[in-house]
Amino acid sequence: MTFPPPPADLSAWGAPLQPRGAALLTDPLLNKGTAFTERERDALGLRGLLPPRVFTLEEQMQRSLASVRRKPDALEKYIYLTNLQNRNEVLFYRLVVDHVEEMVPLIYTPTVGQACLEYGAIYRRPRGLFLTLRERGRIAEVLRLWPREGVRLIVVTDGERILGLGDLGALGMGIPVGKLSLYTACAGVHPSYTLPITLDVGTDNPDLLDGPVYIGLKQKRARGAVYDEFIEEFVTAVATVFPQALLQWEDFGNTNAFRLLNRYRSRLPSFNDDIQGTAAVALAGVIAALRLTGGSLREQRLLFLGAGEAGTGIADLYVAAARAEGLTEAEARQRCWFVDSKGLVVKSRGADLAHHKQPYAHDHPFIATLGEAVRTLRPTALIGVSGMPATFTPEIVGQMTALNPRPIIFALSNPTSKAECTAEQAYAWSDGRAIFASGSPFPAVDFKGRHHVPGQGNNIYIFPGVGLGALASESREVTDTMFLAAARTLAGLVEPADLAVGRVYPALTKIREVSLRIAAAVAAEAHATGLARVARPVDLVADIQARMFDPVYREFA
Ligand code: NAD
Repeated sequence: MTFPPPPADLSAWGAPLQPRGAALLTDPLLNKGTAFTERERDALGLRGLLPPRVFTLEEQMQRSLASVRRKPDALEKYIYLTNLQNRNEVLFYRLVVDHVEEMVPLIYTPTVGQACLEYGAIYRRPRGLFLTLRERGRIAEVLRLWPREGVRLIVVTDGERILGLGDLGALGMGIPVGKLSLYTACAGVHPSYTLPITLDVGTDNPDLLDGPVYIGLKQKRARGAVYDEFIEEFVTAVATVFPQALLQWEDFGNTNAFRLLNRYRSRLPSFNDDIQGTAAVALAGVIAALRLTGGSLREQRLLFLGAGEAGTGIADLYVAAARAEGLTEAEARQRCWFVDSKGLVVKSRGADLAHHKQPYAHDHPFIATLGEAVRTLRPTALIGVSGMPATFTPEIVGQMTALNPRPIIFALSNPTSKAECTAEQAYAWSDGRAIFASGSPFPAVDFKGRHHVPGQGNNIYIFPGVGLGALASESREVTDTMFLAAARTLAGLVEPADLAVGRVYPALTKIREVSLRIAAAVAAEAHATGLARVARPVDLVADIQARMFDPVYREFA
């Protein structure tokens, strides 16, 4: 069966019997609350169970919007929105889609970080599956307990590196839940096709192990063979129980993230957003910036501060892009340089270097500081993915500006407090010449009579569209070339008006259009490379658009 459009009738939603009466009001996929019509109230046994006045979706949304805005802080807004989602998904998604700039920071970063920290306290209703070491040997059995059959999209975390917050163990569940909400809001993947999963293999966070309200297993993290066997059983069970599902790895610790991606990416359609999604969004920013600086990708010299999942992921995708422009792999790698916590990544550091850094360990004298690395290597772009604030100093930004008429300076570390420099600093220290983007949003800056709008290199521009494209084409794999196609598509959607104010990403309000275009590019790649498991439709964009869930009510009677 192909990835179908949103289900049209109740039986297709995985519900064994069409719920009626009070049961219908407790099913968030079907419940319309006060919007059930007079006819539906009679036909579905709802008479008397609802207040008499019938509201429209628009009226309900305005009421919910007012309620969100009345809440005193972001966490309270998150709790309100979670409850709304658990009550009435169409209304929740209408609100998010129509007010995307206001709602995304509430249902995902930065608020989701705080929500994870408090997940034990604010947990009310299950949303997603917890698979723990206790379920070893019967993971498939537990997956089958999920009440919906048509799962197509799984986001899974083991909670080891939640955003910039570290090991949160089972509290990490907020992440797959939030990411899948973004898939639905931004790419129209129907909520009934999504399944958030948290793998609880313990935690090394002493505060959680000693804390009285921790909701997860109170034991140290499993590592080595025990961990690997658990993951192997999980992946095998997913492929058996949900053979059409795409699996997204999310917020795994550094060493496991690379290993798992490489081990499983050809076994089942899967990708890691922290590595590949980040790479595509950052590369898209660089490609769009070239429309301001002139020059080609293959001529760039990238200097990264931070050599983790984000940094080496971006460099790997840059290498793929530069190869497509005619460089050899060695030549392309030679254009990427890394400074990590110990200094410049160079060959002489030898055994000290993690596996993922080694392709970028060039034969070059060691350099201890970022400033000296900028002076020596003369980069065209400086990309911060270190999680270390205030590391792009006035001297370093000044040096970049002396080297380049329009220096590309991306401070991608999250949250805002971790950014390598602020937007205001980048513009001020470069005399307004920097092309700046960040991981967390910064307000616009007026500097010497010019209006600058910093771009936000948010992964939300990439992963929903990539996932949708992979699902629509039923691709057997999610390849790096698909992420490259996504990056190029995203860069192509940046408008001259965006570039005129220095913004290298489209407005977030265009996110559904962005996701649709990316999905079409990814599906086209799947068809062109023989990875698609369905025939290529004549009009890819129209075909995918028809599969996107638009949060509007259906008539049930
Ligand atoms: P990671 O833990 O895998 O890597 C961090 C790297 O920074 C490591 O190589 C570490 O050695 C290095 N580092 C630490 N201290 C340093 C210092 N003082 N100087 C130089 N390097 C130092 O983490 P990651 O997943 O690569 O994420 C890194 C940052 O990028 C985080 O802040 C994260 O929020 C951000 N990020 C942003 C986006 C985005 O903007 N779309 C996406 C993903 C990650």
